[in-house]
Amino acid sequence: MQILFDRIRKDGVIKSGKVLKVDSFLNHQMDIELLNEIGKEFKQRFADTEITKILTVEASGIGIACIAAQYFHVPVVFAKKSQSVNIDGEVYSTQIESYTHKRTYDVIVSKKFLNPQDKVLLIDDFLANGCALLGLIEIVASAGAQIAGVGIVVEKGFQSGGEVIREMGLRLESLAIVDGMNEKTGEIFFRGE
Ligand code: 5GP
Repeated sequence: MQILFDRIRKDGVIKSGKVLKVDSFLNHQMDIELLNEIGKEFKQRFADTEITKILTVEASGIGIACIAAQYFHVPVVFAKKSQSVNIDGEVYSTQIESYTHKRTYDVIVSKKFLNPQDKVLLIDDFLANGCALLGLIEIVASAGAQIAGVGIVVEKGFQSGGEVIREMGLRLESLAIVDGMNEKTGEIFFRGE
């Protein structure tokens, strides 16, 4: 997706630890026109797929998922980070290790909002080692629902998450795959460009 490549090159900041900061347009301040193009692109890529719900994880996936949902005409559910593990059985829960914060969160989804008939599109801003997605996949499996696909804005192709998800046989559509970035020169290499 060329406009995304261009924007990442223009406004993305390469941080040590192989982190790409895109907080000026994607996940803190949000450029809604760009998010709108991203939403349209996800819809195009999954046009042949039946989707009844979009699932993402708090917080940075929410804006992206909501704009995309306007093209899919389905509700968005987000996995909530929870302080306390719920023991009354009303939620699906799992643990996700945060790549950027280096700590583990319990995340929950109310059982009311996922059911065995659902065909779920998972959406997130980044794919690094795949922890966030594996957590969401576990939640969907607990609900007995089906995963229709996975839509990622930026996949870091030099980390293992993409391979893990594709090897599971899931359809993964990443709008930008970064195969390398040079902290010193600021160069970013996109797959297929
Ligand atoms: P994973 O769980 O795949 O290891 O990491 C994905 C999650 O970590 C995403 O939800 C995203 O919020 C965060 N993340 C991973 N790598 C980056 C990165 O390079 N930049 C930013 N901004 N977030 C990242």
